[in-house]
Amino acid sequence: MDESLSFIVELRCTGCGRAYDPNVAQTVCTYCFGTLFASYDMEKAKQRFSKELLPKRVASLWRYREMLPVRQESNIVTLGEGFTPITKIESTRERLGLKQLFVKDDGIIPTGTFKSRGMTVAISKAKELGIRKVALASAGNAGGAAATYSARAGIECFVFMPNDAPESTMKECYQMGAHLYLVDGLISDAAKFVINGKEKSGWFELSTLKEPYRVEGKKTMGYEIAEQFDWELPDVIIYPTGGGTGLVGMWKAFNELEQLGWFETSESKKPRMVSVQSTGCAPVVRAFHEGKKSIEQPFENARTIAGGIRVPFPYASEQILKVIRESGGTAVDIEDSAIIKSMEMLGRDDGLYVCPEGAATLAGLEKLIEDKWIEKSEKVLMYNTGTGLKYAELVRLTKLKTFSKEESSNFDL
Ligand SMILES: *Cc1c(COP(=O)(O)O)cnc(C)c1O
Ligand SMILES: [Zn+2]
Repeated sequence: MDESLSFIVELRCTGCGRAYDPNVAQTVCTYCFGTLFASYDMEKAKQRFSKELLPKRVASLWRYREMLPVRQESNIVTLGEGFTPITKIESTRERLGLKQLFVKDDGIIPTGTFKSRGMTVAISKAKELGIRKVALASAGNAGGAAATYSARAGIECFVFMPNDAPESTMKECYQMGAHLYLVDGLISDAAKFVINGKEKSGWFELSTLKEPYRVEGKKTMGYEIAEQFDWELPDVIIYPTGGGTGLVGMWKAFNELEQLGWFETSESKKPRMVSVQSTGCAPVVRAFHEGKKSIEQPFENARTIAGGIRVPFPYASEQILKVIRESGGTAVDIEDSAIIKSMEMLGRDDGLYVCPEGAATLAGLEKLIEDKWIEKSEKVLMYNTGTGLKYAELVRLTKLKTFSKEESSNFDL
């Protein structure tokens, strides 16, 4: 055996428990269509991987490489993504009367959203497995990130997007040399093109939680939160949920860290995980409050300005709902108008130019404080999943004054 960077042993179906070989390209379980999760040699990890090694390592998500699936260093396709700051937002904290409020800010990651986390890992692993062509349906950001890492890996990338996806993400795909196709419909409609074109085109499907490694990349959010908070997790994490990869990934991370014995308290207290969605597309919120085990049908007429969470029928809904319940969390929906307002407030009050999905977490937080679901003494972390700069068209410039050049010697503000 070669000396592998990774302690991965196998892939396991989250539905029926069947094991799959991680050295061969896999999508979902061939028996029950369940999502496959990577599992690692925890005994070896306890002996050879310790948190004391981390401070000397690269300030990117690849610092956790033993718990990531890529075996050979030469296959890692990276732009330095991850290890993003956890920022205090003091004005907002004071306004809400909370003791401790933080934002984990993935607005400053390559490609501008946390989709890079999933894609650096998925594309690196695709490269390692010899995959030459990938395809995915995307609300925008995942397509941009797939295009970016594919370009670096020399992999051909096909992206299918709703035709009303943010223009910035279309341009990103175009600029990265991906094949970009627009579909007059939602992400679920775009997904059908990827599935139906698979046989003819021979591409590998990169759709989230159907491909096993994007969630491995996204789980690093959980590793980072733990490390950056010195191995003491917050009480509540509020997360804008679309496909649910981040939510499911963070929970996987916390479970792995617990197995590794890295938490400070022996009785490690894991956070309550909160899923925030827009009222216009809230399949997770609805299924959670109806007590359902999974989402049975697509949310009808899905509409929201927060494209990343406009996912009417998430593939891994069973996993998402399980994590929310297991953690003692909840799910809330908020209006798009509250998202716009929260984007504005985070800018004016705390200097954060967040994406609408990230802003949704603030609107959700306010609702949960009002409902007394969150106590003011609790330590709360909001996850900002991307930069507002990718959504420039959402910002309306009103009351903007324009001068003529000649006025510079005499003007009123
Ligand atoms: C994709 C996306 C989300 C939702 O992420 P999931 O992990 O799929 O739930 C949230 N915010 C932004 C900016 C996104 O691009
Ligand atoms: Zn299965």
